[in-house]
Amino acid sequence: MSAPRVVAVAPGSPAARVGLVEGDEILSINGEVPRDLLEWRQLVDDGTLAVEVRRGGLLETLVDVDKRAGEPLGVEVQSALFDKVRTCDNHCEFCFIYQLPPGLRRSLYLKDDDYRLSFLYGNFTTLTRFTEADLERVVSEGLSPLYVSIHATDPQVRAEMLRNRRGATSLRWLRALLDHGVEVHGQVVVCPGVNDGAILDDTLAGVLDRYAELASVCVVPLGVSRFNTEARMRPHTTAEAVAVVDCVHDWQEVFSSVLGRRMVFAADEYYLLADRSFPDSAVYGDFPMYEDGIGMARAFEAELFGTGFRATAEDRGGFFRSADADLSGSSDAEYEPYRGVRATGDQLLRIGPRRRAPVAILTAPYGARVLRPLVERLGRPDVRIVTVDNLYFGGNVAVSGLLVGADLARVLADEPPGHRYLLPDVCLTQGRFLDGTAPGDLPLPVEIVPADGRSLRAALGSRAGG
Ligand code: SF4
Repeated sequence: MSAPRVVAVAPGSPAARVGLVEGDEILSINGEVPRDLLEWRQLVDDGTLAVEVRRGGLLETLVDVDKRAGEPLGVEVQSALFDKVRTCDNHCEFCFIYQLPPGLRRSLYLKDDDYRLSFLYGNFTTLTRFTEADLERVVSEGLSPLYVSIHATDPQVRAEMLRNRRGATSLRWLRALLDHGVEVHGQVVVCPGVNDGAILDDTLAGVLDRYAELASVCVVPLGVSRFNTEARMRPHTTAEAVAVVDCVHDWQEVFSSVLGRRMVFAADEYYLLADRSFPDSAVYGDFPMYEDGIGMARAFEAELFGTGFRATAEDRGGFFRSADADLSGSSDAEYEPYRGVRATGDQLLRIGPRRRAPVAILTAPYGARVLRPLVERLGRPDVRIVTVDNLYFGGNVAVSGLLVGADLARVLADEPPGHRYLLPDVCLTQGRFLDGTAPGDLPLPVEIVPADGRSLRAALGSRAGG
């Protein structure tokens, strides 16, 4: 266990009034030691708190806080889990963490499989390490929704995909969660030749048969980087992507007729791979799976042209759904959402719509395919798309979230100075790219823009109406 450390105190808050300061370590609250942010929130909800504080690593004092019950304490702590993250005991062939280049910060290699991070950040869990005690806590504390990796409902296929024999049985916990009324969103990562075709059909039949209470199921393609060492893992062919899209559409009809809702959705990436147009935005409702790559293109379009906005703007995850952990020198990890804070405050775009310089939108190949027709509709000859191929990760990695400084620097080196270069914030974590560089290291200044249509519209000025 590591004591939660204060990283910010809200001015005028109860914490500020009693003199809590950044750097304080909270050893206990009313005699209890919180294991994670969930317990922390419950403890600080009380009106009267006796907070045991360690300051400067030495001095320990007891601070009495008197506030209204339910009033926020006004303290932000550095991490979501104060005990150890539950790491996964699977060895999936398609795991992107195994496909990372060496030498990145250690936290990126952490394979978490912790239901608490699923609840807090939307990370997917396979439930292979889930226990009866976990179920009790989920139910008693109302930790809903949760996000579960299904991949296949056939026990043998699932165990093979996870390379873990517990994969064959751990979906019994999914059944138990649904029995207790927990909202669960499922995910199927499709690996061609492994769980597509008849297996995907069987999986979606299994969902209908055994897990029909699932809130949704997203079907996403595997990512393959140039560091992949698994012989069976390869990108989809166009025909395979078409087959997945058709399969999902067929099952949407079945689910609609049986359950009255579509239930299963293919990731936007599949429509790009299959060279199909995206479904109408109405298909996605209020975009509940936006952060899983479902309906992003349609949401972006609606936001850019001001015809609609996502109801759920809250970011709760990242492009490989992990947690950022400082593992240095300690067996206990400090956690924060992998993509919780993207750009730092001073990097965020200061929008200057009166600026007349030509605008270049830096984006990855998938982003370019989505954005190019939208920008054409804007009727803005001063705005162009600059596609940045991902040579750093290679393989089929083509999403903007995995853009790194090395590739951006290579592309910007050939671009003219004096233009505005807009960069989506999704490729930054705490102000840094995955390769450890920062926007300030790039050869030309860039403006960091939140990766949604409304923010791009604002960045382009008021003339985006097309
Ligand atoms: S893909 Fe997820 S469950 Fe599989 S090995 Fe990687 S972290 Fe674990």
